[in-house]
Amino acid sequence: MEFPMHDNDLSAIVEADRAHVWHHMFQHAALDTRDPRIIVEGKGMLVWDQNGREFLDAVSGGVWTVNVGYGRERIANAVRDQILKMNYFAGSAGTVPGARFAEILTSKTPGLTRMYYCNSGSEANEKAFKMIRQIAHQRYGGRKTKILFRERDYHGTTIGTLSACGQKQRAEHYGPFAPDFVEVPHCLEYRKQWDVENYGLRAAEAIEEVILREGPDTVGALCLEPVTAGGGVITPPSGYWEKVQEICRTYDILLHIDEVVCGMGRTGEWFGYQNFGIEPDFVTTAKGVASGYAAIAVMLTTEEVFSMFRDAPEDPLGYFRDISTFGGCTAGPAAAIENVAIIEEEGLLANSKAMGARLKSGLEALMDKHPLIGDVRGLGLYAGAELVADRATREPLSEKLVGAVVADCDRQGVIIGATNRSVPGFNNTLCFSPALIADEGDIDRILDAVDTALEKVAAEV
Ligand code: PMP
Repeated sequence: MEFPMHDNDLSAIVEADRAHVWHHMFQHAALDTRDPRIIVEGKGMLVWDQNGREFLDAVSGGVWTVNVGYGRERIANAVRDQILKMNYFAGSAGTVPGARFAEILTSKTPGLTRMYYCNSGSEANEKAFKMIRQIAHQRYGGRKTKILFRERDYHGTTIGTLSACGQKQRAEHYGPFAPDFVEVPHCLEYRKQWDVENYGLRAAEAIEEVILREGPDTVGALCLEPVTAGGGVITPPSGYWEKVQEICRTYDILLHIDEVVCGMGRTGEWFGYQNFGIEPDFVTTAKGVASGYAAIAVMLTTEEVFSMFRDAPEDPLGYFRDISTFGGCTAGPAAAIENVAIIEEEGLLANSKAMGARLKSGLEALMDKHPLIGDVRGLGLYAGAELVADRATREPLSEKLVGAVVADCDRQGVIIGATNRSVPGFNNTLCFSPALIADEGDIDRILDAVDTALEKVAAEV
């Protein structure tokens, strides 16, 4: 295939990358035997590498980010116009696109009226953690500093967010961690921890048990992904969220929902939590906010939380003493305004639901043919297929063979993902998060690639 726009020899770029770039989440020894992959161009659902090879991107830029697809001129134009007019101002001053985007996004989040700007999912979660701790000090005299997080959930790469990491291997080499982060069990019914009928209720009660063990007056907040992403695309069982919400209210515990992946239409609603009718106190979101056209993340909260800081004038340091230097970049909100307009004008929430249903039912149909698929999960354009060596025992398929499925799809020109290696024993879920513009042909091509890959790998087993 040809590059659509690009025809330069990129071998010098490949060598510069090999010599100087330290890639994310990557063991560089792999480059002893092959070239690094450089993604050179993107248009819609497609990307091209340095050799002009075309791929259908079923993971929105590798990590579920480019929700509106590649090559959006209107986002580029809006960012260009904005940065020529005023590119940056931070501190206590606001900016025009900052105010406009805050108004636009909070109109999608009834009850969450305040937005705090920053740059990454980790940072947004840190902001929420800091607010929760400050509330513990200002309101509860230093009690309620504990933050509960869940097994298999991930909230970021900083030492603070790794202190709340449910994917143990991801944190393993980076301790010691911040105190007062406490783990609660996950809710993945396929990997049952309790043999009960109402699994959702039981998994929520397990959170309550931790709260009672720790002492409710020591617990300030519960931080959860609405649908766990890298930990296995875990959709909650029915009844789970209602009980979680009730528990938070009973024990006066703030509910922090990490929408870094699920936000901005990924699950078919603006935010994942909106599928479950819950009312969070904090929402953090990042990846899809500007679909990767600019680095922007936001933390949303209620007027009630906001007023705890605004109405603390008797404490001269009672405001939120935090800043994010690049929270003052206007490129982020300028891009995000267009991103939201595209999602609305092109009906991408509805498309996320419709194409997500096609993807999920297509994966379920593949289960009839491929015993390697043990479970299919997902919501909106966000799906996972958990691979097993044996359906009866649910023994996870080895990392090597899961990798072989991903690699074979890649050879067929379709980039898919797999849960990361940091969930010991359970790094066996194929992940799909195509851009929300995916059409039926794209979904079918993804399914065909998986079908072919599983056939080949099954022959090896
Ligand atoms: N929360 C979740 C649920 C995530 O998946 C991620 C990133 N994969 C983060 C937080 C951290 O986001 P970032 O990499 O932008 O810091």
